Amino acid sequence: MFNDPDQYQEIRDAVRQICAQFPDEYFRKIDEQRGYPEAFVDALTKAGWLAALIPQEYGGSGLSMAEASVIMEEINRSGGNSGACHGQMYVMNTIVFSGSQAQKEFYLPKIAAGELRVQSMGVTEPTTGSDTTKLKTTAVKKDGRWVINGQKVWISRVQHSDLLILLARTTPLAEVQKKSDGLSCFIVDLSKAIGNGLTVRPILNMVNHETNELFFDNLELPEDALLGQEGKGLKVIFEGLNAERTLIAAECIGDGYWFLERATKYANERVVFDRKIGQNQGIQFPLAESFIELEAASLMRWKACERIDARQDAGVHANMAKHLAAKASWEAANVCLQTHGGFGFACEYDIERKFRETRLYQVAPISTNMILAHVAERVLGLPRSF
Ligand SMILES: Cc1cc2nc3c(=O)[nH]c(=O)nc-3n(C[C@H](O)[C@H](O)[C@H](O)COP(=O)(O)OP(=O)(O)OC[C@H]3O[C@@H](n4cnc5c(N)ncnc54)[C@H](O)[C@@H]3O)c2cc1C
Repeated sequence: MFNDPDQYQEIRDAVRQICAQFPDEYFRKIDEQRGYPEAFVDALTKAGWLAALIPQEYGGSGLSMAEASVIMEEINRSGGNSGACHGQMYVMNTIVFSGSQAQKEFYLPKIAAGELRVQSMGVTEPTTGSDTTKLKTTAVKKDGRWVINGQKVWISRVQHSDLLILLARTTPLAEVQKKSDGLSCFIVDLSKAIGNGLTVRPILNMVNHETNELFFDNLELPEDALLGQEGKGLKVIFEGLNAERTLIAAECIGDGYWFLERATKYANERVVFDRKIGQNQGIQFPLAESFIELEAASLMRWKACERIDARQDAGVHANMAKHLAAKASWEAANVCLQTHGGFGFACEYDIERKFRETRLYQVAPISTNMILAHVAERVLGLPRSF
């Protein structure tokens, strides 16, 4: 059951083949150097995997969400970290769903061919955090241009992206009927913006994850940088988020299986007190528990994929999948570390690296409490808590 082939075996095998060229040592070294896995991302891009969700008419492979999720799962299951490039798979969804015909024709074929990277989405701000509708970055129309002022925080992969999808307020909060109105999305050409109104300051953090503070000081954008309808930017972002949540759920599932594979192998080999440590129920039960949790999370992942692929509302299912998977991968990480005893702390085992990496997903791209609040309100009909 652990390694049974499924209907996606061809995709799994093909992705595994690429990942096999980038063994543990590769990712360990990148982590040590706080570098970016450029060669790995290039190989995935060239093979077309990161263009999986771009429709075929624009040069992508037009795969289903289920298939795309398998790609991400396999990257993490192989020991890699999709966090370096997962944005490339879902951020462009904002253009697929909300772009004008001209924007789709201009950007999507270039993204599919790997000529342009759209890896960054700028939503979070330092003073407002999860309270997105209160964000303070403004975009004001002036002489046929948009002028952007404000600040963002934790904006990932900006230094490895050509474009940034930015959310800013175009109508003051006090002037809109619904607080989710009055926000708009923009496509920012980073090569033109940086140094001309946009300053990027990297944030050193617990994971080797390229993320930044952004400062906008009268950054000017052309009128056609607007993505989707003015004032409806939150909808543009949300349309892409179900894919983001579901793909990250798949990454967590991949991480979880990686931890379990390492832990069961070690538990079957390590002998203490004249027996394999895996013979002790204190070691094997947490591993079994972890497997059950991962399998359950994976079922919810398939459910979310099914709804997205059927073009049904998938918000709740995508959030639930991400929640279950992030918890299950974190639990698997903990069990794997415990199973390895002191060796779990040695960098050469890669467990501490993956342990740090998978912890992120209970905070970003949406923190656990926000998912619980969403389910409590939308599914259970409880009063809104904020
Ligand atoms: C490595 C990394 C990469 C990231 N990449 C991006 C990116 O590319 N683009 C982007 O826009 N953002 C990004 N983020 C930001 C991320 O989405 C936010 O950190 C996350 O949404 C939480 O927001 P916050 O950090 O401001 O926490 P806060 O909103 O300050 O919340 C702090 C804690 O309080 C809890 N909390 C707050 N309000 C409530 C409430 N009403 N009820 C219950 N609990 C509550 C939260 O759940 C959280 O646990 C990234 C973050 C990290 C760490």
